Amino acid sequence: MNGYNTLYPMGFHYTGTPLYAMAKRLSQNDREIIDTFTKIYGIPAAKLDGIKEPRKMADFFRDDIKKGMVEIGFSVDWRREFTTADRLYNRFIQWHFRWLNKRGYITQGTHPVAWCPNDKNPVGVVDIQGDIEPEIGDSHIVKFEGDGTIYPTATLRPETIFGVTNIWVNPDAQYVRAQVDGEPWVISKDTVDTLEHQNHTVSVEKEIPGTDLLWKTVVNPLTKASVPILPADFVEPDNGTGLVMSVPGHAPYDYQALIEVKARYESSPELHESLEKIQPISIIRLEGFSEFPAADIVKKFEIKGQDDPRLEDATKELYSKEFHNGVMNDNARPYSGMSVENAREAVVRDLTSSGKMSIMYELLNKPLVCRCGTKLVVHVVDKQWFINYGEPEWKKQVHKCLDEMTILPEERRNEFNYAIDWLRERACARKVGLGTKLPWDPDWTIEALSDSVIYMAYYILAKYLNKNWLAFKKFEKDPDKLPDSFFNYIFLGGGNSESLARETGISKRLLEAIRKEFNYFYPVDMRHSGKDLVSNHLSFYIFHNTALFPQNQWPKGIVANGFVLMEGEKMSKSLENIVPLRQAVAKFGADPLRLGVLATAELNQDTDFSPPLATTIQERLVNLIQQSRKLGRKRTGRATYSILDRWMLSRLNASVQTATAAMERLRVREVVNIVLYHLENDAAWYQRRLGPKKVKGDSRNHVLRQVFDLKARILAPLAPHVAEEMWAALGNKGLVAKAEWPKPNDKLLDRIAEASESVIKDTLEDTSEILKATGLTPKRITYFVAGPWKWQIYQKALNMAVQSQTDQGNFIRDVMSDPELRSIGKPAADFASKAIRQATQMKEELRKSRVGLELKEMKILEDAKDFFSREFKAEIQVGQEGEKRVSDPKDRARSAEPYRPAIFIE
Ligand SMILES: [Zn+2]
Repeated sequence: MNGYNTLYPMGFHYTGTPLYAMAKRLSQNDREIIDTFTKIYGIPAAKLDGIKEPRKMADFFRDDIKKGMVEIGFSVDWRREFTTADRLYNRFIQWHFRWLNKRGYITQGTHPVAWCPNDKNPVGVVDIQGDIEPEIGDSHIVKFEGDGTIYPTATLRPETIFGVTNIWVNPDAQYVRAQVDGEPWVISKDTVDTLEHQNHTVSVEKEIPGTDLLWKTVVNPLTKASVPILPADFVEPDNGTGLVMSVPGHAPYDYQALIEVKARYESSPELHESLEKIQPISIIRLEGFSEFPAADIVKKFEIKGQDDPRLEDATKELYSKEFHNGVMNDNARPYSGMSVENAREAVVRDLTSSGKMSIMYELLNKPLVCRCGTKLVVHVVDKQWFINYGEPEWKKQVHKCLDEMTILPEERRNEFNYAIDWLRERACARKVGLGTKLPWDPDWTIEALSDSVIYMAYYILAKYLNKNWLAFKKFEKDPDKLPDSFFNYIFLGGGNSESLARETGISKRLLEAIRKEFNYFYPVDMRHSGKDLVSNHLSFYIFHNTALFPQNQWPKGIVANGFVLMEGEKMSKSLENIVPLRQAVAKFGADPLRLGVLATAELNQDTDFSPPLATTIQERLVNLIQQSRKLGRKRTGRATYSILDRWMLSRLNASVQTATAAMERLRVREVVNIVLYHLENDAAWYQRRLGPKKVKGDSRNHVLRQVFDLKARILAPLAPHVAEEMWAALGNKGLVAKAEWPKPNDKLLDRIAEASESVIKDTLEDTSEILKATGLTPKRITYFVAGPWKWQIYQKALNMAVQSQTDQGNFIRDVMSDPELRSIGKPAADFASKAIRQATQMKEELRKSRVGLELKEMKILEDAKDFFSREFKAEIQVGQEGEKRVSDPKDRARSAEPYRPAIFIE
């Protein structure tokens, strides 16, 4: 509608493990998945057998959602449809990966990854229940020693080792003594698995109940202090090593546990005495806190016990404050005076070099559960393939691209920046799932977020492949025969068409046509996706596009949408509020469904779909079609416009202006509001003012036709079916989808018409209010407009306010210096004082619209006499303050003001 050729294609992503997991559950006759398929998606039970195979299941849902997209009216170019399991797509992705590999962006090595022990495979966000990106962090193992055995504790804050007063174990947990990489360790039983997954050799010697560890003493590897092992319930045996170093001065959990352990053994005199000796040790100075910040913060959060969930928040707050603002004190010699951040590095360096510390990886956002139902762990994989998003030059390029991009809503830009900085090596291949084999190591399949980052380029190619050109037939049978030089030419312009034609047997003309089409459409101007994909999929998309394509073909913009909620709730199986697309179209109709979603759509938040709203919208849309039919194909009447007509056209033009500006920022909700509500209200007012009586040859048809023409155009992208119906009913040729988007026309802006109409609206409202308040049934209503001198003062006041000169005293003096006004005396001074106050308090927009504007209120009201008399079923008179033409027994005219006639009701 703005004159661009817009490519809107659609493809289907088959890659990955979620489908495998679902197909497997279906073959195992899992009740939940059967219920989901039959009850929510309405798939007949007899059909389930046919979709137990992953590929078949994918095909089934592809067909279903495609039908839904057609039914809801997406104008997709289906010639370009493909799936990521197509053999020529696989060939394309192999080219993509060979290219990345050549550039040095693929690495193989030993790295920690999130891992499903059941599938024996790395897992990423798409494989995880709830679609959560796994975050892996380093924790440090500090090796305490006792009786020649190592008691390793895992910590994220190694610098607090100076403040350790004791070690915590969970008395209810099971521990083991084991040889770990040749050293005797005591660890929780769960830790054995964790360490094995991280390439440690572990052989268990014997099991030890947690209670057997209590009251032993161990030695701090740095301070050499002896500290006891004490019981604490908050210790989780599957977190870290199951042993925790206690720093009650600076860790809220430890502080709380220490209070409780003391209370627990109060009645045991011997233990009580030694426990009382354990006092927090202060090691970090933190402004705004006492020497024991943990005690302060436990008090602040009003912590009730070790299981209090607020302890987590208290911990987060204190950790972050100490990390950013804390300074080590004299108890932390030789690191005293250092910032916490620097001390941490120094402690790690020193203890690691003396063999008293090692690294352990942890899932920072656990528990995470694989789609197969298994809890995830961190696994250190040998010879795993990675894409190295940590490459500094690559990152720089991606930032450069992002800086030039449009991001909607703009608030998400920071998230992109953060993700781009934070991304490191990321596992890019799996041993299971549909997808493309890694070209140089076919045991591996490229995973879902790695084969879906440049697919937009493939739409160009897909059109030609789907056309079944003879030239491509042989490659479909044998994709490996399609050489990399083909992709290099089409997408990168490498080589030349003549030699490529000889090499591939594809005609030079066809090759050049595809290359030309790619250059015509690429880059992607706007990529619409979900806000949950910003930190992975969409960031990868920028990475790969900048890696492959020249700068003029880098992505131009991303729109990150929210989710669609159902009456304020997330759609979920348990709430039984999921409505599959096709069912929703059948129930509400395509356009009411579209507008129902869009009517509450704000880019930076979720959209809330409400069935009653969709029903109301449906009624409004039906009404639009009916009114268009009533206007019909024929133009009737004349095109000389009254001030009321000019008002309608001015409003119309304002609507175009706001709708266009809103559309540019994709604030679709506003556009829906304008076309369904604001403009509708204006048109209703216009018709109410004209009255039911049709005057032959009046301009009504002319004006309303323009209103509806415009509504159809604005609705075209939002509610295409209704818009086309309106367009045809109004007698237009062709499709409104191909018509021009309306352009604002400043000539139609009419300040006088708008101001006149506002006088009438306000007067109508004021009169109704009075009638309502007094309960009068009027026989006659008289309107008195303000006298010319009031207009003079009013305009002066507006002028002063525009120049920000709002001093009342000055203004009154200024007014009274005019001899004519001075002759009026006190009423002039009083009105001046009121006018300057009003002008000052007025909204800037309104003030601007009124400054310098002198209305012929007398004529405006005279012309509307028929209207008022129709509305109030009374005789209407209009008079002016200071004139005696109309009788004014109650002296009402005095109170008339510009834009606010005085009203006298008899
Ligand atoms: Zn799994």
